[in-house]
Amino acid sequence: MLISKLCHEAHETAKKKGWYDQPIETATQLALIHSEVSEALEADRKGTEEEFAEELADICIRVFDTAGSKGIDLQHHILRKMELNKHRPYKHGGKKY
Ligand SMILES: [Mg+2]
Repeated sequence: MLISKLCHEAHETAKKKGWYDQPIETATQLALIHSEVSEALEADRKGTEEEFAEELADICIRVFDTAGSKGIDLQHHILRKMELNKHRPYKHGGKKY
């Protein structure tokens, strides 16, 4: 329930702040998520633990907003994937990473 609420709130806040005044492409949404991942990398390289945590939160907020904008039930998909992952083989059958 909480993740669904966060998706709704993240998207409502983004709309109120004008980020959806014009149509936004999925590719742009994904690029913005990626930009937060890059910020997290930089925070890990030369920032504080607090800054790193803040960037991880930014990643989640962008993902929540994207899911909220598309009416995706992210909570359902996360729970489903986490359950599937429990049954995958060790290192998913031999992957290096
Ligand atoms: Mg950021």
